[in-house]
Amino acid sequence: MTMNLIDIGANLTHDSFDDDRDEVIRRAREAGVDRMILTGSSVADSEDAAALAESMPGKFYATAGVHPHHASEYSDAVHASLRELAARDSVVAVGECGLDYFRNFSPQDQQRDAFRRQIVLAIETRLPLFLHQRDAHEDFLDILAPAMQDVTRAVAHCFTGGADELAAYLDLGLYIGITGWVCDERRGEALKNVVGNIPLDRLMIETDAPYLLPRTLDPKPDTRRNEPMYLREVLRVIAGEMKISEEALAEATTENAERFFSI
Ligand SMILES: [Zn+2]
Repeated sequence: MTMNLIDIGANLTHDSFDDDRDEVIRRAREAGVDRMILTGSSVADSEDAAALAESMPGKFYATAGVHPHHASEYSDAVHASLRELAARDSVVAVGECGLDYFRNFSPQDQQRDAFRRQIVLAIETRLPLFLHQRDAHEDFLDILAPAMQDVTRAVAHCFTGGADELAAYLDLGLYIGITGWVCDERRGEALKNVVGNIPLDRLMIETDAPYLLPRTLDPKPDTRRNEPMYLREVLRVIAGEMKISEEALAEATTENAERFFSI
């Protein structure tokens, strides 16, 4: 069946795609994943993502931001570079940004500071926010909630939480991005149980490739690398949990992504 899907989180600039990026893009297109939002996680990476997006206008778009892992690199110069990136037509969101207290690759106070500054940038540029949060729910809400009245739109990318976290995010008006985490029978159980609580007009789908290869793929690929064509598997599993057709879910999530990113 022909699909028209948008992968809202593909790290296609990742070096694991350096040898066969064109093939990966071709396979994605054959699977109906025609458009992608390429995730930027540092200034250099966001520049690469924007450049790659500009090679496929109307198909690929990019985010520009600094991941919490890189928050210790945040500076006035970084902020200025992000502002320049945000002005490019190919850049459709600020992020990924947020808090990650699971790994704490950057000190938490620096994570909070980089997060606050990127929220300000999103408000100034009227771009939506592409958000990352892990093990930092309370601080994340404390920082984001007061700003939400001024933020155009925001998505909790790679949402992996349970019912309470989901309810809090929906109350804030966030969109929810679901990855192949939902296909993980070990870690994805809590998420699976609440996916049906996400209103159809707030849900978007993503692979987070090359990470999070769906564990339900059959046959299993002989590599651990995820790629955007497997968005079909994420769609299939979510549709099963929501008890709706894959076509209906595809249509809703594509419409949401078009509206969210203004593409
Ligand atoms: Zn992330």
